[in-house]
Amino acid sequence: MSLIVQKFGGSSVANAERVMNVANIITETYKQGNNVIVVVSAQGDTTDDLIEKAKEINPNPSRREMDMLLSSGEQISIALLAMAIEKLGFPVISLLGWQAGFQTNSTYGSARIKKINTDRLKNEIGNNKIVIVAGFQGICKYDDITTLGRGGSDSSAVAIAAAMHADRCQIFTDVEGVYTADPRKVQNATKLDEITYDEMLELATLGAQVLNNRSVEIAKKYNVELEVLSSLTRAPGTIVKEVTDMEKMYIRGVTKDTNVTRISIIAVPDVPGIAYKIFSKLASKNISVDIILQSIGRDGTKDITFTVASDHTDEAVDLLKNYDLLKNSTISCDTDVAKISVVGAGMESHPGTAATMFEALYGVDINIQMISTSEIKISVLINRAEADRAVSAVHAAFFPEN
Ligand code: ASP
Ligand code: MG
Repeated sequence: MSLIVQKFGGSSVANAERVMNVANIITETYKQGNNVIVVVSAQGDTTDDLIEKAKEINPNPSRREMDMLLSSGEQISIALLAMAIEKLGFPVISLLGWQAGFQTNSTYGSARIKKINTDRLKNEIGNNKIVIVAGFQGICKYDDITTLGRGGSDSSAVAIAAAMHADRCQIFTDVEGVYTADPRKVQNATKLDEITYDEMLELATLGAQVLNNRSVEIAKKYNVELEVLSSLTRAPGTIVKEVTDMEKMYIRGVTKDTNVTRISIIAVPDVPGIAYKIFSKLASKNISVDIILQSIGRDGTKDITFTVASDHTDEAVDLLKNYDLLKNSTISCDTDVAKISVVGAGMESHPGTAATMFEALYGVDINIQMISTSEIKISVLINRAEADRAVSAVHAAFFPEN
């Protein structure tokens, strides 16, 4: 008998009809003789709606109370899904994160899973029950409810699959898998059969909307093979694993990330230790910096430009403006930018990848502001208004229509 973990995102359980559809997928898997543990997110836009509700009352609520509120979305969906399965006549039980043994640290709002105490899960499975677990939540050492950060249900599912040594971990969503670009925006985008953890991690971090990046980190660490597929069409999806057949496709995808701001510090003293001081200041506030560019010094000063996630803009600018080291520098920021990336582990052995990307952008007259590369990705920063056009042009260069 196999153990299968199935995760269903918010859109897959958005209304009664979709909850029944998901109940059918689960019970079919169970009828085939498998044990099934299900992780589910809050229905549709519930989490966003709860955040709005909170803001109406207090624009600055404590993170603890925010977690108390947001965790309720998943409590609704697990109960409804369990009721749907009861109606189909199968043994089922729903569990909140803490009941399922999820122990986290106490970083409310973006808690990390420390351990899953699997006793209860094993017990319920032993009694042949289908177990429905609330994603995105756990409990910390103060016995408080915590949440794992937006999109955290993916991590809940992968963590259960790892802790329970599941035979399969299926992530059901509203698209058929991982695509070479956003299929809603790029006509020629195709579904990938397979992708490596490292490539998926880059895609998830750089703006692909499937799978949350922390879940991919957990999958890689514990070698949990993932299958990303649609709950609506049930077509075969994309397998995420350690090694794939690279020959077929050396670039896996083109992404757009608009959650990015460019910050420039003009006229920084050109002396040793400056970059260290600036970036450790930002790091001390947990602000991560992405692309960094430093100009050649002149007249004893230089300029440093870098990008941060948009939601960190104000905090980063405040911090730098109040830093006495930079009292003679000018800080400016541009929120009107987007990061376009190509990802593929094969690019290491394919010289000219960067040139192909830059040529495609030149071909549609798009200016590149910044560039950064790693072994498996190339990112450029461009004007936000041109982002969709850039993705299409770059995608067409790497995936010509045949
Ligand atoms: N409901 C949470 C969110 O919307 C968790 C999730 O969907 O994975 O972020
Ligand atoms: Mg959600």
